[in-house]
Amino acid sequence: LGRKINTALADLTKAPVIDEKVLDAILKDICGALIQSDVNIVLVGRLRNNVKKAVNVPELGAGVNKKKIIEKAVMEELYKLVDPGAEPYKPVKRKANIFMMVGLQGAGKTTTCTKLASYYQRKGWKTALVCADTFRAGAFDQLKQNATKAKIPYYGSYTETDPVSIALEGVEKFKADKFEIIIVDTSGRHKQETELFAEMQQISAAVEPDSTIFVMDGTIGQAAESQAKAFKEAANFGSIIMTKMDGHAKGGGAISAVAATQSPIIFIGTGEHLHDLDRFEPKPFIRKMLGMGDMRDLVETVQEMGMNQNKNLMENIKQGQYSLRDMYEQFQQISKMGPLSKIMGAIPGMSPDMLAGSEEEGSKRIKRMMCIMDSMTDLELNSDGTPFQTHRSRIIRVAQGSGTSVHEVEEILSQYQRFSSMVKTMGGKNGLMNNLPTDP
Ligand code: GDP
Ligand code: MG
Repeated sequence: LGRKINTALADLTKAPVIDEKVLDAILKDICGALIQSDVNIVLVGRLRNNVKKAVNVPELGAGVNKKKIIEKAVMEELYKLVDPGAEPYKPVKRKANIFMMVGLQGAGKTTTCTKLASYYQRKGWKTALVCADTFRAGAFDQLKQNATKAKIPYYGSYTETDPVSIALEGVEKFKADKFEIIIVDTSGRHKQETELFAEMQQISAAVEPDSTIFVMDGTIGQAAESQAKAFKEAANFGSIIMTKMDGHAKGGGAISAVAATQSPIIFIGTGEHLHDLDRFEPKPFIRKMLGMGDMRDLVETVQEMGMNQNKNLMENIKQGQYSLRDMYEQFQQISKMGPLSKIMGAIPGMSPDMLAGSEEEGSKRIKRMMCIMDSMTDLELNSDGTPFQTHRSRIIRVAQGSGTSVHEVEEILSQYQRFSSMVKTMGGKNGLMNNLPTDP
């Protein structure tokens, strides 16, 4: 899908004159690509109409950049498809926040509830898991294994067969122990059956969840709409987690589920491991779907946060030039703004281990790197790291000057090399940066 839409948008560049006919042809390509990506046909029709309404080609003046206006209209419509504008539940500190997971068997509920618990635990919440799946053999063992690995307290039973009483017992126990986030895993069935929905409603009535989360397999394509609708009616969930977005998921399932239920997606599952859970953000999601890379995210974040006031840096990045000082200045700006993880994620080549841990740990790490770089000379900072390669004594001097280790200085330099090579491939005359929308 991504490639096709990008090609359609690129056609805009090639067209000598942009008139109604060109716009129609492009919209046809885009809509075709969306339908192939399992996006519901009604939604696609709406997108086409909205873009046509937003872009009144004949009325566009001669001086305006039509390509940018069309591109912007298409992107806005795509963003709207995955952003219902509804706020998901925000857990409250020092209170028992009950989450209940619902979804079909195999959707990824059990896997996801441990990921979610671990996510909150890393952020400092007191978190626990309750296994209310008595339907699937081995359900409790699966949750137990995951929870143990993630060091999360859990509750379940091998003998009790009534999911409602287990759910209630577990929740009451963890409430009494002052847990802040209690996640209840429920059973699924292969189909949307009456028994499943009845069980879900009974558990829900018993534990009174603050947030019911619908877990959906992201690879189911066209089935997403009816499945999401059925669960919305039966469980009135507040938010969605899409799983298996690492595989062949095309994005259409996510779009259809949001449209059918007007509920926000809060996370996406991107693998089978504990850390394979990403916060869902409409814009990056769509841009990733379109095959638009990190650099675009960087530029947009930079623009959104007013970081582009640093004209020199932006110019340098565009030229494909990037010195140690540029990296330092980026750190400086980052440490003044939050949320850290969002901005960090947007920096080219940022390694995932720098993002690990809490926000606080992350900003400490940045401060430490800046502190080390404070021991560099102007010549070194303005360079691309070469002085350190030719004179290893410089590394030792910086390590001593900042009271750190040679290893740490080397780590900064290799981090810098990663940024820099990313900037080089993205920048330059033919780079992505030069095809980006600039400020009006
Ligand atoms: P449940 O029946 O809804 O509880 O689903 P499970 O949590 O047991 O997951 C079913 C299967 O999907 C397991 O093999 C999981 O490892 C796998 N799974 C869950 N989430 C993801 C994901 O985000 N990516 C991938 N690749 N596999 C996942
Ligand atoms: Mg399960």
